[in-house]
Amino acid sequence: MCGRLAGTGKIKHVAHILDGNKVRDQILEECQPRIQRILAAAGRAPGLAVVLVGADPASQVYVRNKTRTAEGLGIYGETITPDASITTEELLRLVRALNMRPEIDGILVQLPLPAHIDSRQVLNAIAPEKDVDGFHPVNVGLLSIGAPGLRPCTPSGVIEILKRHQIPIAGRNAVVVGRSNIVGKPMAMLLLEENATVTVCHSRTADLAAVCRTADILVAAIGKPAAIRAEHIRPGAVVIDVGINAVTDRAKAELLGPAKLAAFDKRGTVLVGDVHPMDMAELASAYTPVPGGVGPLTIALLMRNTIEATERRLGLC
Ligand code: NDP
Repeated sequence: MCGRLAGTGKIKHVAHILDGNKVRDQILEECQPRIQRILAAAGRAPGLAVVLVGADPASQVYVRNKTRTAEGLGIYGETITPDASITTEELLRLVRALNMRPEIDGILVQLPLPAHIDSRQVLNAIAPEKDVDGFHPVNVGLLSIGAPGLRPCTPSGVIEILKRHQIPIAGRNAVVVGRSNIVGKPMAMLLLEENATVTVCHSRTADLAAVCRTADILVAAIGKPAAIRAEHIRPGAVVIDVGINAVTDRAKAELLGPAKLAAFDKRGTVLVGDVHPMDMAELASAYTPVPGGVGPLTIALLMRNTIEATERRLGLC
């Protein structure tokens, strides 16, 4: 999108900001009638159990936001907070007990788990039909064959942002930077499901910038603050920034441009994505800001997955 700068005669590029908060609100609103239908059919609300091991402050904030959103919607939320010293065996028993409880439709084990715990074993112990994070191998397999199943929340949120902003996906070149099991890989599978031509990049990709410049849709999920720069972005591309990084060093905040620096000076810290915010605003036709882009969608999709899991368990869909 372009606009003429008043009085200068210069053409100023104005990128379209993809508002994740608005999409989150739409999704949460759509959850309401489905919850009412479940209440009418089963005489109870959907139930979500969140397991938070230890006292990691960031995880505590994430879990609080999840359970608050659930309760605000009328979903029954239960948080279980075992001590960080819990063993893998004990955690497995806890998860299996949740699998057995009929009023619990969704189980989420907050990551990361303490290093001594076998995270994969714990995630694999969650009953696939209650796996609202979509990380169980059964759900990963269903995604990879394009069959219905519970899909990972963050990448599903990206698809919602694109679709609800009428950004075409089919036939377009999508480049995903990052290949984690939580974001990058499922993101690639979901874009493929939407008929994009997908390339997945990682830390060993040769000439990352050149590959990224082939993207009509560029998704960055690497966990490196502002690492994706102008040379990675084809002018006019749609850029989705999944990264959430806290910058606590003023010198680093200064490199992110005046808006981020001003935010830093107010709070002593500022959030930035994996894409440089100024390069993205200057070159992309549309982009997700950080914060306020992909972030808000993750919780909304978790709520929707919980409802979907409940509907499936009750035979309502
Ligand atoms: P991981 O650390 O698990 O994975 C990072 C991936 O990026 C790896 O595949 C790695 O490659 C790749 N990578 C790292 N550095 C580079 C580089 N310089 N060039 C190319 N590829 C690189 O991270 P996650 O996938 O869990 O998270 C990614 C980001 O998304 C983080 O900023 C995280 O905070 C954010 N996030 C946001 C969420 C939200 O709700 N918005 C939810 C989840 C995550 P390799 O495999 O070769 O090591």
